[in-house]
Amino acid sequence: MAIERTLSIIKPDATRRNLTGKINARFEDAGLRIIGQRRVRLSREQAEAFYAVHRARPFFNDLCSFMVSGPVVVQVLEGENAVAKNREIMGATDPAKAAPGTIRKDFAESIEANSAHGSDSLDNAKQEIAFFFSGLDIVP
Ligand code: GDP
Repeated sequence: MAIERTLSIIKPDATRRNLTGKINARFEDAGLRIIGQRRVRLSREQAEAFYAVHRARPFFNDLCSFMVSGPVVVQVLEGENAVAKNREIMGATDPAKAAPGTIRKDFAESIEANSAHGSDSLDNAKQEIAFFFSGLDIVP
């Protein structure tokens, strides 16, 4: 298995409830290393650019409003199979369908306010990491 990097975002519903540490513990307990991390308040422009792929979806505006509603924690996770592993730790998009023990099952408030984002492929991970981090901000 390859060592990969993936982009994670702890979303505003989770920072509002002070869940950053609990969510980070899920990643670290599963063997992923947090090698870059920053707490930021996204601008509307940044949220729209980050989710540009979803521009045509009916929930795009609501999603962008949610993502700027409070601080987020953007982070780079590294480890074996990090992209798929992080998706597994997060669980399904809809918390009602997420497996027991996943972040979204345990913490998400709704299909939109679902506590965490994780890149869905290695290619997207590279693009999403570059969106938020320069090489100097990543310390393996
Ligand atoms: P993910 O890869 O599991 O995050 O899911 P998607 O890429 O399909 O969707 C991106 C984000 O949009 C999700 O994490 C949710 O925050 C939000 N989202 C997805 N589906 C819906 C929906 O049906 N309604 C609303 N309001 N938000 C959604």
